[in-house]
Amino acid sequence: MSGARRFVPFASPDIGEEEIAEVVDSLRSGWITTGPKTRQFESDFAVRMGNAQSIAVNSATAGLHLALEAIGIGPGDEVITTTHTFTATAEVACYLGADPILVDIELDTSCIDPAAIDRAISPRTRAVLPVHYGGRSCEMDRICDIAGRHGLRIVEDAAHAFPTTYKGKLIGTLSSDATVFSFYATKTIATGEGGMIVTADEQIARQARLMRLHGIDRDAFDRYTSTKPSWYYQVIAPGFKYNMTDLAASLGIHQLRKAERFQLRRQEIADRYNEELHELSLVLPPQPLRGDRHAWHLYVVRLSDDAPLHRDELIRRMAESGIGCSVHYIPLHRHPYWRDRYSLRPEHFPNSELLYQRGVSLPIYSRMTDDDQTRVIDALRALLH
Ligand SMILES: *Cc1c(COP(=O)(O)O)cnc(C)c1O
Repeated sequence: MSGARRFVPFASPDIGEEEIAEVVDSLRSGWITTGPKTRQFESDFAVRMGNAQSIAVNSATAGLHLALEAIGIGPGDEVITTTHTFTATAEVACYLGADPILVDIELDTSCIDPAAIDRAISPRTRAVLPVHYGGRSCEMDRICDIAGRHGLRIVEDAAHAFPTTYKGKLIGTLSSDATVFSFYATKTIATGEGGMIVTADEQIARQARLMRLHGIDRDAFDRYTSTKPSWYYQVIAPGFKYNMTDLAASLGIHQLRKAERFQLRRQEIADRYNEELHELSLVLPPQPLRGDRHAWHLYVVRLSDDAPLHRDELIRRMAESGIGCSVHYIPLHRHPYWRDRYSLRPEHFPNSELLYQRGVSLPIYSRMTDDDQTRVIDALRALLH
């Protein structure tokens, strides 16, 4: 019987009939690339972000690249970020000829350690790129304080953090230069591939919009176009091809409307894990500050010293029970490219190493049923009693 049971994946998108109908509407309209749906998604997102500028792109990676480009990161500059992230966070600095400087995390947030940022600052440092790991906010006051004292820019990697709050404010509305969200298939709201840059800075917004689509200057175009033919445009920079399609935006419009409901369901799942797993030989994930909201993109437990089995074996045994688990992340310092380019060693990053060697991401997604979760909890009890 158990062999026939449905596999509980580690993540799953939550796409409804509204999204499907909206995509079909785009297909029928003939507007399949950037058009009215993208504009609507951007303006809906902007409303959610307290009217900050919202610029839709085809991935968060593209968004991070554009944000760093817009704040003027270039060859020889250094951008401080965390080793405990996806490679996209760091690679965007390389796109611009800059160096990502990787530092350790704090265990009580799983996010970048502000003291480690302080220690990593050099005369070449230009920016800090914090990652709200799993959907729990970084310690932004301390990061902003350090950045302020050293004249550094801040771009937040909020790929996991919609909707997350820090001291009551939604991520995307803090005082950073820009914040970038991801709508990749596994993220809390999904468009398949997609991302959004949010900024209160008109200059950054202008530059990101310009570079998003081949460096075509829409403003110059609009200002002088009345006497020019409709086919006329001006290229003023060697831009990129990072625009969002209306097919993706069709999904985003409805995902955004459902985001509150999705977050509440993820919160329920996290609350139940918190309650039912605390007596096992596990360290539960960092909780948000009191009164704050965690997006719960990930629910990452850490095996304690007295756990009867190792991370790999736990994941293998869970898979045998039909439950998908994952690891977030293989830290960047363990990947050949980053390790060799910057001579990084595991002992430089003890907290990231501990989270990597002991960490397991448990299934969490809005469509997860109570029965699915019972199976995860029962399987963990059987393995970790
Ligand atoms: C998913 C992710 C990204 C990249 O997002 P894409 O939309 O896939 O480009 C960047 N940073 C982190 C931390 C992520 O999890």
